[in-house]
Amino acid sequence: MPRLSRAIIGGVLAAVCLGVAAYAQQPSPPPFATTKVDGTDNVYIFRYGNHQSMFVVTAAGVIATDPIGYGRPQAVVTYVDEIKKVSGQPIKYLIYSHHHFDHIAGGKPFKDAGATIVAHKRAAERLAVLKDPHTVLPDETMDGSRTITLGDTTLELTYLGLNHSDSTLVMRLPKQKVLFAVDFIPVGAVPGRGMIDFYPLEAEDSMKKVLAMDWDKLIPGHPGAPNGRLGTKQDVQDQLTFLQDASAAVKAEAQAGKCWDPVEKDLKLPKYENWAGYAQNLPFVLRRYCALWGRGT
Ligand SMILES: [Zn+2]
Repeated sequence: MPRLSRAIIGGVLAAVCLGVAAYAQQPSPPPFATTKVDGTDNVYIFRYGNHQSMFVVTAAGVIATDPIGYGRPQAVVTYVDEIKKVSGQPIKYLIYSHHHFDHIAGGKPFKDAGATIVAHKRAAERLAVLKDPHTVLPDETMDGSRTITLGDTTLELTYLGLNHSDSTLVMRLPKQKVLFAVDFIPVGAVPGRGMIDFYPLEAEDSMKKVLAMDWDKLIPGHPGAPNGRLGTKQDVQDQLTFLQDASAAVKAEAQAGKCWDPVEKDLKLPKYENWAGYAQNLPFVLRRYCALWGRGT
């Protein structure tokens, strides 16, 4: 073997070993965490595994969101316990962000605690048909917008139209300038399997509406990358630009007859290769845009 090649291989091996060593030294995060959002005195994030929810504590009760109990009922028991640690007030509301089970399954402990469950009307329609044994049906539904006032806290619920799913409510705390938006605005990450229930053209409109709203901090439904961070308006703009870039790239190939293969196998978007989930998730994005531009769906 030529000396140069051997040196290169040696260097690659060293880099791989260093990578493994660095990874091994990363402490794995605890299974769950409850954190207060900086700059607020009553807005919390409950994270369990790779899902998270917002809850708001007021003098007249607690407003909780997404029970995140899919396949793990103990997560919901923990969630309720964590709320009780920071507030002796009753849990008055449980708001579903959208109808996907990984975010809303397991709500029975909230129902048992007396919470009124609120969701978009389309979520209720779907859940009524699906009859998932682990997912509690909403008590109240809405379309358009609704404002919940509890104690001195105001929470605005808004349906922005189709984006990720057809039942997403964004939740805004106008005083705290916090927005809770789940799954249609990944923070610092390429969206993945959720693209199976995604409306590409309408999602762009939703993101523009989000950019026009008054808020500073975005709580995503999955911890933002890197390090579980919250999102900013720049993150929303970046995600919108990513989708537009993916859409334009696939459109050109699709109209040349390249969907599904070879687009799914060969198309790359190197501008985003440093985003979390790039290698694993890009094929799901390409498939969704192939469906749009290659099949019209
Ligand atoms: Zn979802």
